[in-house]
Amino acid sequence: MPAARAEQPFVRLLEIVRVIPCLADPSKIRFTAQFDSDVSTIFPFLNTIIPGAIYNHRGKTLTIRKDGRLITLHPDHVSAAKIDDVLDAKEVVSWLIHLINECDSKRSTIKPTYDRRDQLRVIDVVKLLPGTNCKACEFPTCLAFAAQVAAEKASIMVCSELFLADYKDKRAELLNLLRAGGYAVPDGF
Ligand code: SF4
Repeated sequence: MPAARAEQPFVRLLEIVRVIPCLADPSKIRFTAQFDSDVSTIFPFLNTIIPGAIYNHRGKTLTIRKDGRLITLHPDHVSAAKIDDVLDAKEVVSWLIHLINECDSKRSTIKPTYDRRDQLRVIDVVKLLPGTNCKACEFPTCLAFAAQVAAEKASIMVCSELFLADYKDKRAELLNLLRAGGYAVPDGF
């Protein structure tokens, strides 16, 4: 009788394709890594088992935190911020592959969750705001505004300063983070 063929892992490859400085913390890096296939079907299951996950079912993104690192899974890639260095990036990639494959192996025993279970942290939002405390948003500080944005009580569009050319990169990063978390962000930005 022929030997049973071992099942293929759900994720075989997650390749780091880009490493750049972290905008939220200049002492750290960000990276992008590419999956070799669409992994989005696992997101609702990861959303169930990972405490503090932020899932956007419509947008097919899942944001998770690992010891201060901010990691967003998209169907075909991962973007991660607040990473110590390239070695740390490689460890995060290995951890993710293991986490996803482990979750897939138990998929039949996990009830998928399609709702967002957590909010962004104020600290994750405030680090990507201009930090000038200019009060144009009518809040006394960027921190106060960030708390309202994280709680979905204020729109990020109210921070006019963020839409100045100087903050182009921070703006892109913050809007991506908000979108990934299922927060309302108008199209075209
Ligand atoms: S408008 Fe933006 S930069 Fe100015 S205080 Fe508000 S959040 Fe900070």
